Amino acid sequence: MEAVFSGGKSRPGTSGEQVQIINPANDDVIETYEYAGPKDVDDAVTAARSAYAEWSTAAPVVRSEALRALADRMQARAEEYAQAETAQAGKPLRLSREFDVPGSIDNAAFFSGAARNLEGKASAEWDGDHTSIIRREPIGVVGSIAPWNYPLQMAMWKVLPAIAAGNTIVLKPAEITPLTTLMLAEDCAAAGIPAGVVNVVAGAGPVAGEALMSHPDVNMVSFTGSTPVGKRVMELATANLKRVHLELGGKAPFLVFDDADLDAAIQGAAAGALINTGQDCTCATRAYVQRPLYDAFVEGVTDLFSQIVIGDPLDESTDIGPLISRKQQERVAGFVDRARKDGATVRVGGQIPGGDLAKGAFYPATVITDAAQGSEIVQSEIFGPVLVVLPFDSDDEGLALANDTVYGLAASAWSTDVFRTLRAQREIQAGCVWINDHIPIVSEMPHGGYKQSGFGKDMSTYSFEEYTQVKHVSMDITGAAKKGWHRTIFSEK
Ligand code: NAD
Repeated sequence: MEAVFSGGKSRPGTSGEQVQIINPANDDVIETYEYAGPKDVDDAVTAARSAYAEWSTAAPVVRSEALRALADRMQARAEEYAQAETAQAGKPLRLSREFDVPGSIDNAAFFSGAARNLEGKASAEWDGDHTSIIRREPIGVVGSIAPWNYPLQMAMWKVLPAIAAGNTIVLKPAEITPLTTLMLAEDCAAAGIPAGVVNVVAGAGPVAGEALMSHPDVNMVSFTGSTPVGKRVMELATANLKRVHLELGGKAPFLVFDDADLDAAIQGAAAGALINTGQDCTCATRAYVQRPLYDAFVEGVTDLFSQIVIGDPLDESTDIGPLISRKQQERVAGFVDRARKDGATVRVGGQIPGGDLAKGAFYPATVITDAAQGSEIVQSEIFGPVLVVLPFDSDDEGLALANDTVYGLAASAWSTDVFRTLRAQREIQAGCVWINDHIPIVSEMPHGGYKQSGFGKDMSTYSFEEYTQVKHVSMDITGAAKKGWHRTIFSEK
């Protein structure tokens, strides 16, 4: 595999460091490649800079048609994308086929339309003597970094708004999941997106990633990943004051009021907590259930989690596959083991499975109760199939607990009382609040965090707020040498 796609061509990385891509379902080596290094990053940024003049001034319809062609091209290879995504990330093929790949194609189709829809305030003579025009212009070369949990979708969320708005991009995928991002780069070229507009450098975070985030010829950085690395990215961006867009970790609350439809809440908790084997930044991780429903909810989710089918991601009946890696398996197990030692109760799951599942990075659907609000398992991002359930009494208390972490990416509230849901959607501090559901996303609506979940929006036309800069052009319409406003500076000269 060649780690670099730069200036319209693939070539091997030049870091000198070899790395393996492992299938987490069985520890098989899928690919071996040499990481892209700082020299490759520099070349890719140069390619992006060279392509910028032409791409940024192309008529929006030109960019739109290229993105439409990309959507069509990806549709034709949809099964290939789904298989590659499942092989490298371990996600159930059902999820890759029905969520990751169609969602990515829909994003491309959406941004094909959005490319022709930049918005600004109406032109007018606001002071009577000048016509104001708002221009929304691209920023330049964007350096982007993506995580491993949704490799293709995260690459799409980075590439599409950036190039639809006329920027060029250098994207670094996660080390362990570069396959579909490199396929995407090839498809961009095949769709007629000019060489240098989309470049990929598959390299190590602390080396290629840091080189990209600190590169003096990069104008904006857009990062999706963990909060600690997001903070480092922000530091690196200060050297030439790059614009910064951060989509970081989450610890979504799932707030169940005592008039909620219990069955819907139980089903919703399983879907919300277990999508992508819990490796989703918006996953339901902390269920707060009002006391009258608490016992029945715990019993219901414990029962449903115990029926979740864990196994081979290629098997259509599999609900959750392995975690992304052995390292992640150890990390998730560590969180649960420490919680157990601290007095929490593991209702179901909570052990690395043996037998046939020992061959991969599997971890079962797990429900935990009796944890303290301030404990690590309630406060920190685990990124695994683990749901913690806690009781609350008053609505005030439930809402306060929901807001009691450093994160603010997503949340849900469950109730059949419209006034309670209205209060919850207003008071929960998160970039997305679902009412009586948890997870669904659409290309038309923004995704992004509050608090230490970052800032800036992915998807939707709101993403153009990140990937464009606003210019005000003010044109004198009086033709007068001595303008009316000059008298405030010099009176009768
Ligand atoms: P991570 O922060 O470890 O890595 C993300 C990316 O950053 C990878 O490409 C990695 O190579 C790179 N990186 C690592 N160290 C770096 C450094 N020093 N400089 C530059 N780049 C560096 O995150 P992860 O484990 O790959 O992904 C999981 C995290 O991503 C979770 O915290 C999850 O919540 C978050 N996430 C957030 C969103 C969102 O939209 N907010 C979406 C998906 C994932």
